[in-house]
Amino acid sequence: MPPMLEQYVQLRDQYADHLLLFQVGDFYEAFGEDAERLSRLLGITLTHKTSKDFTTPMAGIPIRALDPHVEKLLHLGTKVAIADQLEEPGGGLVHRNVTQLLTPGTLTEERLLSPDENYLGAVATGDGYALALLDVSTGEFKCALLTSRSALYDELSKHRPRELLLSPELKDNPVLYAEFQARFPIMFSETRFEAEECDQALLGQFGRIPDYLENMALRRACGAALMYASFAQQGQLTMVTRLTRFDPGAHMHLPESTLNALEVFKPNSAGSLTLLDVLSETRTSGGKRRLRAWLRQPLLDEGLIAARLQAVEDLMKQSVARNKIRSQLYRAHDLERLSARVSTGRATPREVAALARTLELLPELQEALQGFSGLLQDLKSRLGDLPEAVALIRAALVEDPPIKLSEGGLIRDGFNADLDALRQEALDGRTWMANLEQIERSRTGIGNLKVSYNQVFGYYLEVTSAHFSKIPDDYHQIATLKDRARFVRPDIRNRERQISRAETAAMALENEVFQHLRDELKTHAEHLSLLASAFSDLDVLCTLAEVAAEHHWIKPSLSSELRLHQARHPVVEKNLGENFIPNDALMHPSRHLLVITGPNMAGKSTYLRMVALCALLHQVGSFVPAETAQLPLFDAIHTRIGASDDLAGGRSTFMVEMTELASILHTATPRSLIILDEVGRGTSTLDGLAIAWSSLEHLQVLGAYTLYATHYFELTHLESKLPGVVNLHVAAQEEAGGLVFYHQVMEGAASESYGVSVAKLAGLPSGVTDRADRLLRSFRAREQEQYHEAMRRLSTLEVSRLTPLEALKALHDLQMLLHAGEPS
Ligand code: ADP
Repeated sequence: MPPMLEQYVQLRDQYADHLLLFQVGDFYEAFGEDAERLSRLLGITLTHKTSKDFTTPMAGIPIRALDPHVEKLLHLGTKVAIADQLEEPGGGLVHRNVTQLLTPGTLTEERLLSPDENYLGAVATGDGYALALLDVSTGEFKCALLTSRSALYDELSKHRPRELLLSPELKDNPVLYAEFQARFPIMFSETRFEAEECDQALLGQFGRIPDYLENMALRRACGAALMYASFAQQGQLTMVTRLTRFDPGAHMHLPESTLNALEVFKPNSAGSLTLLDVLSETRTSGGKRRLRAWLRQPLLDEGLIAARLQAVEDLMKQSVARNKIRSQLYRAHDLERLSARVSTGRATPREVAALARTLELLPELQEALQGFSGLLQDLKSRLGDLPEAVALIRAALVEDPPIKLSEGGLIRDGFNADLDALRQEALDGRTWMANLEQIERSRTGIGNLKVSYNQVFGYYLEVTSAHFSKIPDDYHQIATLKDRARFVRPDIRNRERQISRAETAAMALENEVFQHLRDELKTHAEHLSLLASAFSDLDVLCTLAEVAAEHHWIKPSLSSELRLHQARHPVVEKNLGENFIPNDALMHPSRHLLVITGPNMAGKSTYLRMVALCALLHQVGSFVPAETAQLPLFDAIHTRIGASDDLAGGRSTFMVEMTELASILHTATPRSLIILDEVGRGTSTLDGLAIAWSSLEHLQVLGAYTLYATHYFELTHLESKLPGVVNLHVAAQEEAGGLVFYHQVMEGAASESYGVSVAKLAGLPSGVTDRADRLLRSFRAREQEQYHEAMRRLSTLEVSRLTPLEALKALHDLQMLLHAGEPS
C-alpha cells in the first residue's frame, strides 16, 4: 500500500464513526469502501487510484464545493471528519491530521447552520433525568434536572436538539432507546459519561464546578456534552463561558401536546400558519431564537411579566423610536454566532468586518432607547458599545474583506508599516514588469514583442520568428515554438523573485496581523456575548410591540378572574381578517368549568384555543388579541384536543387520548388552564360519556379553570348538579338554505347537535341525509318510548316477591328493551 494510503487508513480507523475526507491538493478524497460509500451517498463519480501494482476505489470532492456536500452527508445521518494537509506539499509524504469533525449538533460553520438553535443534547439518569443542552454556534450552555421521563421528552421536544448523547444506562436499555429514537428522529452519538472524566471536563472548562451542579447526573450530562463537543471541535470550547441551570418549574408548564394543539411552532396541517408566524416580525436571527425561547417558556413571575408588558407598551406607543431601533437591528448580523466565532478564534475576515458593522449600530440604538424606563433602560445600559474594538477592526481591515484569510488583501494600507513596505516592493516589481514590454519594444525595435507569464517559466519575453534577427545578446532562449521563441534575462528573474518574495512575506504578515486582531477581539468575547443577548431581547420586545400595533392587540392585566372582551384567535383571525367574529370569555372560581356545546364546525375548538393563546401570550409578556383582557397567572396550560392517531408510536386514537388525559389529571393543579376538546370520542358512546363525565367531576373538585367542548349533551346536566360548572354554546341556526354558523359563543347549552345538517352542508347526497333525518326522528321517538316503558315496568316490579332467577330474568328483559329497536 502506498504511504499516503497507509496514512489514510490510520486516520480512518481512528475516526471509525465518521466518514473521513482526506485532503489531497485541491480535493478531499476518500478511498476503498469509504469511496464507494461517498459516491453512493452523494451520487458522485467513483474512480480508481492506481500506483504500480496497487489499485483502490477513490472518490473526491473539490475543496471549494465542500459545504453543500457536507450538508447532504449530515442530512443523511453521516458524520464527517476532515483531515487537512498541515504543511506545504514538498518532498515526501505530507503531514495530515484531522482538524474538524462535523456532526449535526456541533457545527459552527455559518453556512451549514440553520438560523435556529443548534443544540447538542446529553441525557444522564440518576436522581431524575439530567439534560444538558449545548449550542456551540452561540456558546449557549444550559442544563436542567427533570423529574419524569415525560418532562424530559417535553424539554427535548421544545429545544429540538440536532444530536443526542445518551448515557449508557439509557442507551443500553433497548426499550428506552427505541422510544427515544421513535420520538426524536435525529442523530444519536456515542461519548463517555464516566463521572470522574465529566467532572474533569467541567473543571477544565470553567475552572470550578458550579454549586448548582451538586447532582451527579447533571454533572455527567454536562461533562459528556462538553467532551463530545470539544472532541468534535478538536480543541477547546472557548465560546462556552457560562453554564446555566434552568428550572422548568420556574416557567409555565407547556407540555408538547399543548404546543402542538395550539400550533405554536408547527402547523397541524401543512401550509397553515402558526402563532410563531403571526409573531414573526423579528429583525435578527438571535431575536428569532429568543422569541422561540420566550414562547417555549412563558413566565410565572408577575414582576417579570409586568416589566415586559411595560416595555412592549412603551415601544408600541413610541413608534418613531421603535422604527429606528428596528431599522438598526435589520442591519445587524447574528451577533451570538459572531461572538462565538470570535471567541474560538475562527472568525473569518468577513465575519470580523460584520462584527464591526454590527457594533457600529450601538450608539444609535442607545440613542433610540433614550428616555425609556424599566427593562428598556436596562437594555440601554446592557448595550454598552465597544468603540476600541470597532476602531481597531476599522483601522485594520479593508472595507469589504475576502471570506478567506488565504485570499489576502484584507489588511488596510497604512495599518502596518512592514506590510506597507512589502506591498510597495511587490508593487514596484510589478510596475517594472508592466513597463518592460514598452521599454524592450523601443530598445529592440520589435513592435510585437510581448512580456508574458506562465506557471512553468514565470515571466518571459516572446518574439515571433520574423524578428529573430533583432534579438539582443542579453536574451537567453528558453523555449522554441513553431513560429516564435521565448526568452529570459537575469534581471527579469531577479525581479520575479523579488515580487514573489515580497508577496509571500506580505501574505504571511497579513495572516499574523489578522491573527493578532482576532486575539485582541477574543478579550471582548464575554462582553460580545452579553451584547448579543441584549440585542435579542430588544428585538423580541420590538417585535411584540410591532405585532400589537399592527394587529390592534391590547395590554392584558393580571386578575384572579379570566375576563376577555371581544377576543380573537390570532392565527385564525390572520386568515379570516374582518370576517372573524370576536367572542367574550368569563371565568372565575364559581364559574371555572365551562361546558361548550354546539354543532361541528361552529367554532368550539377555535374558542378554546383562543382563550389558551391569550393566556400564553400574556405570560410571554405580549399584548393579546382582544379589546380588554384580564387574566390570572396559570402554572400550566394542558390540552387534549382532536383525535389524532399516533401511528408511528403504534397507539390507537383512544389510547393516545387516554394517555394524555391521564397525564393532565395527574399533573394539573388548581392554577392550571385546561382545554379539553371532545374527550371520549375514540371509544363507544357510553364508555366515552362515562369517562368524560367522571373526568369533569374530577376537574370540578380540583378547581382548575377548564374549558370543555363536547358533543355529549348529557354533560350539560352537570351545570345543575355541580357548582362552578356553566354551559355555553356556539350559536348556529337551521335556515332555509341549511345550517348557518354565527361563531358566537353564548350562555346556555345548545339545543341540538345538528349533525345531520352539518352532513348536508358537507354535501352528502340528499337521499342519504333525508333518510338520516327520518332515522334520527325515529331513534329519538324510540328512545323516549322505550325509556318510559322500561321505567314503568321497573317501578311496578314487586322485587320482594321475585326469586333470584326471576329477578335476573326481569333485569335481562329490561335491558333488552332499552337496547332493542333497530329502526325499520
Ligand atoms: P368546531 O370545533 O366547533 O368543530 P372549529 O373551531 O374547528 O369548530 O371551527 C370551524 C371553522 O369555523 C374554523 O375553521 C373557522 O374557519 C371558522 N370559525 C371558527 N370560529 C370562528 C369565529 N369566531 N369567527 C369566524 N370564523 C370562525
